[in-house]
Amino acid sequence: MTFASTRDPSDRVSFAAAVFRGLAPDGGLYHPVTETDLSGLISSFGPQTSFNEIAAELTCGLLGDELSRHESEAVVELAFSFGPRLEALSDSIELLELFHGPSCAFKDFGASFLAACMEHFLGHRDRHAIILTATSGDTGSAVAQAFYGRHNISVVILYPSGRVSPLQEKQLTTLGGNIAALEVRGSFDDCQRMVKEAFIDREVTRQLVLTSANSINLGRLLPQSFYYVWAATQWRAARRPPPVFCVPSGNFGNLTAGVLAWRWGMPVERFVATTNANDVVPEYLARGVFTPRPSVRTVSNAMDVGNPSNFERLSALFGGDVDAMRACIEGSVITDQETLATIERYHRSRDVFLDPHTATGVLAAERFRARRAETDIGVICLATAHPGKFLEVVEQATGTRPPLPPQLAAVLERRKQATVIESSSEALKGFLLDTFG
Ligand SMILES: *Cc1c(COP(=O)(O)O)cnc(C)c1O
Repeated sequence: MTFASTRDPSDRVSFAAAVFRGLAPDGGLYHPVTETDLSGLISSFGPQTSFNEIAAELTCGLLGDELSRHESEAVVELAFSFGPRLEALSDSIELLELFHGPSCAFKDFGASFLAACMEHFLGHRDRHAIILTATSGDTGSAVAQAFYGRHNISVVILYPSGRVSPLQEKQLTTLGGNIAALEVRGSFDDCQRMVKEAFIDREVTRQLVLTSANSINLGRLLPQSFYYVWAATQWRAARRPPPVFCVPSGNFGNLTAGVLAWRWGMPVERFVATTNANDVVPEYLARGVFTPRPSVRTVSNAMDVGNPSNFERLSALFGGDVDAMRACIEGSVITDQETLATIERYHRSRDVFLDPHTATGVLAAERFRARRAETDIGVICLATAHPGKFLEVVEQATGTRPPLPPQLAAVLERRKQATVIESSSEALKGFLLDTFG
């Protein structure tokens, strides 16, 4: 399979190259350009096929010219010590729980697979790489956990001092080992600027191999298709008609991965893309115009994205044709009030805690079902984070604190280790060259 930039189709690269480059040099995103039919493989999976088996088969099926069967299995074993779970929420709605990994959010799947691939490719060439990333909180913790202990890779995370939550700070700063946390005396924008400047600094790039692990990386996108296929397989084994997937969306990586799985042959009825007030994609589906704008703050803040970077990939998958996209995806917009009321209602009536992102998907799933009440189509709603990760919002909605997952409770006990630096490019450059030069 080859990959090309969404902007310049002649910029064709291997998976390994796309993984280390992250963004294409023309500013586009790498996406698969080879038509691949894996429907035979997908229909050969049964109820006993484990998530890791499905992940290894798909990795080999997609990337077989770069990763042999044996290597695919090894990468998958390295990546996934955790997996997805399906839990019934009601007769017609199931939650696909994606929060059983180390940072308790679905981003663990992408980050862990990317880390395992990088370790594999670097080991081959006997090189050392540094992942340099700025975080405002959440993505940084998934990246730190995923790369912790990986050979040939060091991670440097910049975060704005005093501007991430205490729990997030602990997740970033307590690992140690190959993970260095830099507490920047400045804002998130300062952190991002410092990272960008390091990537173009001649002296730094001459001495060090710098790479990023941000959410547009192809190595994070592809593995997100694996849990859709796993869930659809369980569904088929229970003799249910192809499901609707309801996807709480921000940057639209998760939804794009589902659409890719459908393209490769996964049976699915359709997708419902759920957003909070940051609704540029539902608006595009309704009116045919894409109008990015500054994000607004909501209670489901991991979905507060005003210019979703994966839209470019999603649109490319449908050849830029909004009608083709509408035939497969519908939009659903949920307000903060509705999100809080949904969390409250499920807690009161079913004793279930939902995190604010998952809650938007659950309400959209209920609405879909209400419109198709005469059918037996079921909805699988992606549960993107553990409710304990968003304690404050869940408590605000229910009056009760959800239990903290064990991974997060353990982190709170550990000691912070961070290096405080000024918000200047020189300070970061000095740190990088002193530490790794
Ligand atoms: C990142 C995130 C989302 C949005 O996912 P995208 O792939 O960016 O659309 C939804 N929920 C949670 C909890 C997240 O962390």
